[in-house]
Amino acid sequence: MISVSVHNIKKSYGKTVALNELSFDVERGELFGIIGPDGAGKSTLFRILTTLLVADEGNAFVDGFDVVKYYKEIRRRVGYMPGRFSLYQDLTVEENLTFFASVFGTTIRENYHLIEDIYKQIEPFKDRRAGKLSGGMKQKLALCCALIHKPSVLFLDEPTTGVDPVSRKEFWQMLHRLQEQNITILVSTPYMDEATLCNRIGLIREGEFMTVDTPQSIVAKFDKQLYAASSDNMSRLLYDLRRLPGVESCYAFGGVHHVVLKPDLDVSALENLLCETGHSEIDINPITATVEDCFMALNSDADAYRNETDSVRSRSFHIVPFT
Ligand code: ADP
Repeated sequence: MISVSVHNIKKSYGKTVALNELSFDVERGELFGIIGPDGAGKSTLFRILTTLLVADEGNAFVDGFDVVKYYKEIRRRVGYMPGRFSLYQDLTVEENLTFFASVFGTTIRENYHLIEDIYKQIEPFKDRRAGKLSGGMKQKLALCCALIHKPSVLFLDEPTTGVDPVSRKEFWQMLHRLQEQNITILVSTPYMDEATLCNRIGLIREGEFMTVDTPQSIVAKFDKQLYAASSDNMSRLLYDLRRLPGVESCYAFGGVHHVVLKPDLDVSALENLLCETGHSEIDINPITATVEDCFMALNSDADAYRNETDSVRSRSFHIVPFT
């Protein structure tokens, strides 16, 4: 059963196209990740699906209800955790939760079973003002407030941004437990390592999905041999690798550089070339691609496609006046 359905949604702010004919479906009970960098259009999409913003073109449905026509119904059915902490800083933990429950005509007690796991961790601080909580605790409170009216679909906009790694891990464990309650979860994140924790992901850039699939299938489609390269001078290594004609792509990735070679260059020839350019402690090893590598590859394909079409466009622009 489809829980969220998006058809050719388009949204611009003046000349900035935030979403460009985006389409996708999310199944009931699915944990769907929208993964992409800042400015890719994630918040705009969530704001449209939670009825806070109206798209310029296209339609979207949540639980079968059109998000524009049935906005009141949608607001009862969805839980939304915006990117920026938006609870009342001067209210205590308990007051915030009571407030959100009463807005939806319910009580903390009625739906306590839904938030129990999460709330137990912040309950010792229930009299503390929300503004005085740590990042991880704020995030837990925001999730409780988004859940207290028993939504069928949960929208979490970058819930782990600025949260420490331990709290991030705990947060994802909480999401998996919520999934067991048949709640559909759409979560956006700029952290590629969180992609593998979702059932399916959409890799978004500039308001368009480059691909939508399971993280495993996306990684399986990476059909080139990837290498991790390092030397005594990592910044110069990146510069030198990018200048070599036999290197197809190269980017910094944690403490190493990830490299794809063209067919006419093999590893030992590359090691020799780097040695000749003055590098020492050269280490180049084959590795398996991650979702982030797939994102980088799709990104550069999209750039190449754009350059191609731009040059066709500019060529035709020049040709037209002369015919
Ligand atoms: P993300 O959530 O992925 O960071 P956003 O949806 O916030 O992306 O933004 C998508 C694009 O739309 C960006 O280029 C951003 O600068 C622009 N944008 C977002 N909100 C506004 C706004 N209120 N006015 C003008 N431009 C905006």
